[in-house]
Amino acid sequence: MADCLFCRMHAGEIPVEKIARNEHAFAIRDINPRAPVHALVIPRLHVPTAKDIGWTHGEMLAGLFSLATEVARVEGVYDAGYRLAFNVGDNAGMTIFHLHLHVLGGRKLGPEG
Ligand SMILES: [Zn+2]
Repeated sequence: MADCLFCRMHAGEIPVEKIARNEHAFAIRDINPRAPVHALVIPRLHVPTAKDIGWTHGEMLAGLFSLATEVARVEGVYDAGYRLAFNVGDNAGMTIFHLHLHVLGGRKLGPEG
């Protein structure tokens, strides 16, 4: 989608440091981190929210979670533990309507992050 920030990052129209990537997804650091490690794992495919995930997205989701594991290794939180989270909609604070998986870690996380 032409007006989607993450689609434009994927297309290379907006330069951004990709800390990991695979066939299905790429990962960047959150510009407003909520924890010492806060990365976003973003599918190359435009899917607006987790509500829009269907059965045909199985391979993409496997690629997304696989890359999240790689991000945890690259960012040094693989052994200590980390959180994976999807925000869905306004009340969850979702601001970019292109599916993205948050990888949070680097300290003890409370129940709300
Ligand atoms: Zn998009």
